[in-house]
Amino acid sequence: MKKYSKLLKKKSHVIFLFHGVINKNKYKVRNYTKKHIHKNEFLEVLNDLNYKGHNMSLDQVYETIINKKDFIDYSYSLTFDDGFYNNYKIAAPILKKKKLHTTFYVTTSFVEKNKLSWIDKIEYMIEKIKTKKSINIFNKKFEIKCTKRSKISFLKTIRFLAKRNMTDLNKLVTEIKIQLGNEDKLINHSNILDKKMNWKQLKKLNESKYFTIGGHSVNHPILSFLKYSDAKKEIYNSINLIEKNLKIKVKHFSYPEGLKHTYGKREILFLKKKGIKICPSAVFGINNKNSNLFHLKRVFVNG
Ligand SMILES: [Zn+2]
Repeated sequence: MKKYSKLLKKKSHVIFLFHGVINKNKYKVRNYTKKHIHKNEFLEVLNDLNYKGHNMSLDQVYETIINKKDFIDYSYSLTFDDGFYNNYKIAAPILKKKKLHTTFYVTTSFVEKNKLSWIDKIEYMIEKIKTKKSINIFNKKFEIKCTKRSKISFLKTIRFLAKRNMTDLNKLVTEIKIQLGNEDKLINHSNILDKKMNWKQLKKLNESKYFTIGGHSVNHPILSFLKYSDAKKEIYNSINLIEKNLKIKVKHFSYPEGLKHTYGKREILFLKKKGIKICPSAVFGINNKNSNLFHLKRVFVNG
């Protein structure tokens, strides 16, 4: 396991980005990026951070930056993106017991309909391939063999190309589904890698003084690829739905995908208009008192 505590510095702040915590993984290919980490690794990461680190909530991060104060030495915060059920089932009880402030950013269509993200749909379909397949996509022909290596190599390439090509991610999923001849319903899966939290569970999480719920769009698109009205809807509707269902004022958000080119001035303006105070990206790095509240960096934890 990596020593994430090495990133903690004096007068600086590290925001860690998690997706999920699991007990076991029955798949061979899925979760190759380790966005879901094993419970034991999760405990190791938290214990390592706790040794010298100082846990803060993102509200405290906001206060520190807005008041131009130096961060407490070795400070860090914990965030989870996407709203996986395993956050509620496995991670939250541990975090609560350890009294660690954590922010959970949820994608509202995932909450409402137990939907899967585009990449989880593709990973699911590729995992299931039992004979050699070829796919024409992005003007390229890909051969996918029935080996773990070949499947992962295809997924890595697709992930890379999709995020850089103004891709319509729904169309991409449909195209791959047709070419593979996959007939599964790519929604409402109950396995630990796909299941999402529902409103009832989010309400329970929100009852803890250590936990904060934030937005992460309606459908998890790459916001900068959308036209003006769609980008606005993705931000506004997701915040409205959380506020309505949890009866809270939402002040937190994180950009889907979160790379530098996936959001911009337009998205930041929408967020500010909706009362969002602080929105981290997924760009790697650490923060200090001069960091911009809408360009905060994070460190992806993958075991
Ligand atoms: Zn996400």
